[in-house]
Amino acid sequence: MNIICRIWGHRWKDGFCIRCGSEHEGHEWAPQPGICVDKCVICNMSRETPHNFSPRGKCEYVCTNCGKQVQRHNYVPKGDCRAVCLNCGAERSDHKWNVVKTSNGSLKNGCKCLACGIINPEGEHVPVVKSHVSGTFFLVCSVCGATLREIDKEEAMRLSSHGHKEVSK
Ligand SMILES: [Zn+2]
Ligand SMILES: [Zn+2]
Ligand SMILES: [Zn+2]
Ligand SMILES: [Zn+2]
Ligand SMILES: [Zn+2]
Ligand SMILES: [Zn+2]
Repeated sequence: MNIICRIWGHRWKDGFCIRCGSEHEGHEWAPQPGICVDKCVICNMSRETPHNFSPRGKCEYVCTNCGKQVQRHNYVPKGDCRAVCLNCGAERSDHKWNVVKTSNGSLKNGCKCLACGIINPEGEHVPVVKSHVSGTFFLVCSVCGATLREIDKEEAMRLSSHGHKEVSK
C-alpha cells in the first residue's frame, strides 16, 4: 500500500484508488434521478440497474424512471416462416436463408429459405466485402452467408467506398 494512502486513506475513483491502484470494495450504491444507473457515493463508479418498464399502448413499454422505450411483441408462428403478434398484429419474417447450388456445384443466383422454400425477394445475393485475417478479401452474401468469390484488395476498396459495407471476421 502506498505510504500516503496508509496515512490519509485511499482516493477512490471509478472502483480503484488513483494513487495505489487498490480496488474499492464495499461500494455504497445510490440511485440517480432520471437515469437507470446507480453510483457509488465513495468512488463514483456507476452500474446499470434494471429498467422499470410500464405498458404504454399495445406492445410498447416505457421506463417510468429514465423514459427508455421498448417494444415487446407476443409473437406466435403463422406458417411460412412468419410470426404475428397476438396483441397488435405486427408481423415479422424469420427465414432460414441458405445457398442454392446447381448440379455442377456453382452457386445459383439468390438465396433460398430452407424452411418454406421461397427465394430471397431481393432476387440476387446481397454482396458485402469481407476481409479475412490472412489479408484476402471475399464477397459474401449478407443474407445467406455464401462466399460468392474472392476479390483483390483494389476491388475491395472500390466496393467498400461504393456502399458495400466491409465486415471483418
Ligand atoms: Zn490507495
Ligand atoms: Zn465504490
Ligand atoms: Zn430506465
Ligand atoms: Zn405486438
Ligand atoms: Zn422461409
Ligand atoms: Zn445469398
